[in-house]
Amino acid sequence: MGADMANGATPMMVQFLEIKAQYPDALLFYRMGDFYEMFFDDAIAASAALDIALTKRGKHDGEDIAMCGVPQHAAEGYLLTLIRKGFRVAVCDQMESPAEAKKRGYKAVVKREVVRLVTPGTLTEDTLLDARRHNYLAAYAQVRDSGAYAWLDLSTGELHVTRCPKIMLGPMLARTSPREVLVVEGDVPDSLTEDSAVITPLARASFDSEGARTRLERLYGTGSLDGFGQFDRAELGALGALIDYIDITQKGRLPLIHPPVQEQQGAAMQIDAATRRNLELTHALSGGREGGLLNAIDRTVTGAGARLLETRVCAPSTDLTVIRERLDAVQLFVDDRTLSADLRDALRQAPDMDRALSRLALDRGGPRDLASIRNGLTAGARMGAILSGELPEGVAQAAKVLSTLPDCAALLESALVAEPPLLKRDGGFVTEGVDVDLDEARTLRDEGRGVIASMQAKYAELAGVTALKIKHNNVLGYFIETTATHAEKMMSDPLSDTFIHRQTTANAVRFTTVELSELETRILNAGARTLELELEQFDRMRDAVLNDGASISTIARALAELDVASALAELAVDSDWTRPKLDMSRSFNIVGGRHPVVERALQRQGGADFIPNDCDLTAQGDNAARIILLTGPNMAGKSTWLRQNAIIALLAQIGAYVPAASAEIGLVDQLFSRVGAADDLARGRSTFMVEMVETAAILNRAGPRAMVILDEIGRGTATYDGLSIAWAVMEHLHEVNGARALFATHYHEMTGLSAKLDGVSNATVAVREWEGNVVFLHEVREGAADRSYGVQVARLAGLPDSVVDRARSVLKMLESEEHGGKAKLRIDDLPLFAVPVSEPAAPKADSQVESRLADILPDGLTPREALDLIYELKGLM
Ligand code: ADP
Repeated sequence: MGADMANGATPMMVQFLEIKAQYPDALLFYRMGDFYEMFFDDAIAASAALDIALTKRGKHDGEDIAMCGVPQHAAEGYLLTLIRKGFRVAVCDQMESPAEAKKRGYKAVVKREVVRLVTPGTLTEDTLLDARRHNYLAAYAQVRDSGAYAWLDLSTGELHVTRCPKIMLGPMLARTSPREVLVVEGDVPDSLTEDSAVITPLARASFDSEGARTRLERLYGTGSLDGFGQFDRAELGALGALIDYIDITQKGRLPLIHPPVQEQQGAAMQIDAATRRNLELTHALSGGREGGLLNAIDRTVTGAGARLLETRVCAPSTDLTVIRERLDAVQLFVDDRTLSADLRDALRQAPDMDRALSRLALDRGGPRDLASIRNGLTAGARMGAILSGELPEGVAQAAKVLSTLPDCAALLESALVAEPPLLKRDGGFVTEGVDVDLDEARTLRDEGRGVIASMQAKYAELAGVTALKIKHNNVLGYFIETTATHAEKMMSDPLSDTFIHRQTTANAVRFTTVELSELETRILNAGARTLELELEQFDRMRDAVLNDGASISTIARALAELDVASALAELAVDSDWTRPKLDMSRSFNIVGGRHPVVERALQRQGGADFIPNDCDLTAQGDNAARIILLTGPNMAGKSTWLRQNAIIALLAQIGAYVPAASAEIGLVDQLFSRVGAADDLARGRSTFMVEMVETAAILNRAGPRAMVILDEIGRGTATYDGLSIAWAVMEHLHEVNGARALFATHYHEMTGLSAKLDGVSNATVAVREWEGNVVFLHEVREGAADRSYGVQVARLAGLPDSVVDRARSVLKMLESEEHGGKAKLRIDDLPLFAVPVSEPAAPKADSQVESRLADILPDGLTPREALDLIYELKGLM
């Protein structure tokens, strides 16, 4: 900001403007005493966003300066609101006390510095975070033709990177749902603009791969990154941008960031954004988490466990070894219920060590974070002891990790009190016997307090005033208080020698004595000394914890794994799920499958039971397609069946048991699900266009290990268009993609395809007609639906009888035309609506006029004869 703007401004305003100029994109929280104040446009924006009063303070360039403020002690809540609303906030603190500033000169302004830039992707405070969700900051880098995507949860230190061509960015964003994404300035990929994440452009230099390499090597204190993997330039660029941004936002404080985990392309089942939405993996179509798959299956008891489960649901594995290891762990807990119960009891005691560790590393942690580490390690050790005997590989490893306590455990155990305060400046968190000096200072302080208590009695007697009290406040410190009536006596000889008047308030008069102030100074000194010594102990404990950072993280990870495994076991036992068999074949054979969310909803409603259904989609040969075409009326359960099979594949590959009597699944590496446009009206664009774009993506990408679910594709357009598109899509899937697919349609014409294409067979959801009504049996059977029952369904929905009857007769005519195949039926040929359709009018005998007309050959008539004929016909009427 130029000198002009600062013209005539107070020194403080000059300082403000200088700092603000460095953070043009953020609101500046400017610390003034007990408040954070905002000025100018920041104040206007913040007061609106926070719904707090906008005031004025002085003038700048002749204009009032807008101002608003929040108390420092409540700042976190306001920060949260601002971050949620998409703001960034630069927190500018006082770096010295006003007294220190005064020493530098009469008008010196207190030194201030931005200590932190708070952005949606870089939060670490529990109050700003959801304990059960990750909070990702992501970066996308592109170097020539290759792209890379990296994502970091600063609150746990987890860092991942993967190669990612631009077209795969959308699916990666959908999988990780970052809060904030870093991109190169002026080059925002399209897929990002549709995402809900905040986009933060950074200069190209932040993405430079050489700079990134240096930054990473410095961060991890290594001379080379080879130990972590072979990164290409794009990967380095994405990682480097993350680290650079952390540096910018954390003002050089070094957080705990684990070495980058490089994910190979294809290591996770590919699931694009539309599929995630349709299968309602984390959120229901209506938007909330309630009603999503994750919510229905989540029985984890720790935050870290919940985060791990979500990560798995969002990225099921494609590695059989990994999947089997996870299933073995689940099975252990399914088979041994006592072990599972004991383990989960211990897990409930385990706090969130990852997040505590991250706060301690950023110097934002308090005594409770130390306690979290201690209690977590203790709970872990308990679990390590519970897990004994013959264990599957993964669990055995976890048990081993848990039983090896890091060095800091003993220190925390001995030096930290059981229930420490939140803030370290409150003191009182170090146990007795850790530090002799500390114990001594505490005794002094506490004795002083005891002496003061006894002084009250002494002074009361001396003054002869029983209503005399010794009190304490932050302004006066210790003082003697009495009422105005008694005060007079104390202010006159001889008592006035002892009692020195300090203050008169509305109800009371306050005094001190030489003895009291001396004692107070002693107490204060002892108190300050106590705190100083406690803070030293805090640093010692924190350093010890950070020293063991890596092993604490490993332990936290083991706890999360055990939480997920035992939670899935709990779910499997409660809901009667079964262990799936997975291999590299192309089978897909589900017996008695159920939809976990629909089944749960039915149970909650206390109505009908969920009817289990089989699905055999086993493909013959390596590339042959296998497609089941499902027809049946609306509401019969087609979508449910389609989705439940996709969900069973997904659950199996996260390493969970599945809702079925048995399941054999040849590994699925891509999962696609599309719903015809009519179900998807919530989104703004031309829905048919969206449907076609999404369908194109499947046809272009699905390989032989893909599983494809198509629900009423083509219905977003006119009937014949839709039918033709659906038809061609199915042929392509069969001939080119060779995928395993389920295809629900109401185009009965398509059932004919099964005769032409080897891999296609028909199935239908059974319904029974009863007294003109349709009863849904929810049973999937071989064969094609014989009719659509749309009219019956309409009746169930409460359409007026007259409309239902009318629809029935229109249908009858249409159907007879179709089968008769004669003249093309036009809507005009149908009887008028007003004609009671239930009793069609009996054909009338020909009238005289008609008989006469029938005899006439118009071409043989002269004009004169024609005129005569008209008179004759008129006479017949
Ligand atoms: P469609 O796709 O054929 O229109 P849905 O799959 O949306 O039908 O199912 C409609 C409703 O029927 C569901 O909301 C659910 O309540 C019920 N339903 C579906 N499948 C079953 C089943 N297998 N057992 C019991 N009820 C079911």
